Amino acid sequence: MTADRPVLDLRDVTKTYGDVGALRGVTLAVQDGEFVAVVGPSGSGKSTMLNIIGTLDRPTSGTVTIAGNDVGTMSDDALSALRAEHIGFVFQHFHLHAGATAAENVGDGLLYSGVPRRERHRRAVEALGRVGLGHRVDHRPNQLSGGEKQRVAIARAIVGEPTILLADEPTGALDTASGASILALLRELHDAGTTVLVITHDLALAASLPRQVRMRDGRVEQDSLAEDAGALAAAIAGSTR
Ligand code: ADP
Repeated sequence: MTADRPVLDLRDVTKTYGDVGALRGVTLAVQDGEFVAVVGPSGSGKSTMLNIIGTLDRPTSGTVTIAGNDVGTMSDDALSALRAEHIGFVFQHFHLHAGATAAENVGDGLLYSGVPRRERHRRAVEALGRVGLGHRVDHRPNQLSGGEKQRVAIARAIVGEPTILLADEPTGALDTASGASILALLRELHDAGTTVLVITHDLALAASLPRQVRMRDGRVEQDSLAEDAGALAAAIAGSTR
């Protein structure tokens, strides 16, 4: 991926649910290796945008290009393959299988990549090591703390070495200390080269990231890349007081 070619490119993207315009014309380009905070009030379209970027949902109109692929022209099977290769998704409430071990949950992240079971297990254990859970591979979710569950979910998201890691309020269900350690982990993954987009209500956290995109009423209201980055970070930090 070259620096002048965005890893992610949204042009005039809309998404309508019945008569609700969840996205009303979003244009956003993200370069390989960026770490972007997505902020904005509840209902402003943040999750809808992340789901569309993650190819979990299709736009009503507009174009979405991921790693050079125009997803609007792709079949569901081709989209699944694209998702398996390029996208890792982390949710606020972890979405782990209660009856499966940490390693099994993480190995599921490779189900659509055609990796044989034994190799899935090996890579899952390795990914759990990367998130600091090498000692928890056989634990089930109910034997793990909230922060540990989110680490398992992150290991599942990164086990396929995605180009883009999408996180929808990953610290929203955690206490402050666990949330901080999850953020530190996202920073490590970013430092290792992963492009990260994170939705957060934590404005101090958002202000600490290199780029902030603020949504309102289904549109990008402010993008620190297009503005004085320092001023927007300061404004976002200021609104926490
Ligand atoms: P945010 O993540 O910023 O809270 P969302 O993207 O979840 O915002 O929602 C944007 C708007 O779209 C809201 O008005 C929400 O009620 C609506 N919406 C989101 N998903 C659906 C859906 N599956 N069906 C109907 N309306 C939806």
